[in-house]
Amino acid sequence: MIQYRLKCTNGHRFDAWFLDGATYDRQSAVGGISCPFCGDDQIGKAPMAPNLAKSKNDKQIEPAELRATEVAERILNAVNRLRKKVEKNYEYVGDNFAEEARSIYYGETEKRGIYGEASEQETLDLEEEGIEFFRIPIGPRRND
Ligand SMILES: [Zn+2]
Repeated sequence: MIQYRLKCTNGHRFDAWFLDGATYDRQSAVGGISCPFCGDDQIGKAPMAPNLAKSKNDKQIEPAELRATEVAERILNAVNRLRKKVEKNYEYVGDNFAEEARSIYYGETEKRGIYGEASEQETLDLEEEGIEFFRIPIGPRRND
């Protein structure tokens, strides 16, 4: 088994194990390796980090901390993908979300996908009336 440090075109780095170097070459040639963070299959070998001697002032990054960062990044990517999909396919109704969702639910207006903002009370009311919707967490926006 051989371990490679890989990176995708979005700059994500991750480690992967292969039977041997030829297996890696074969899999990467057919796009059989994808980035665990964004699904990109344009994967290349990242340079291994040089084993620098640590000065005593170097802050060690704990594995748990690293893992938490990875998980956070993965969630953020999923949220961003979801948000993009919604923004592309759904109609923005701003603060009128609850009102519009209700009109659609009761057949008073054209049935379509919408998104917008709703207050905590409005979302509770919608839930009570059995109107289906889902929340997208607000995260830092990326301009890509
Ligand atoms: Zn990636």
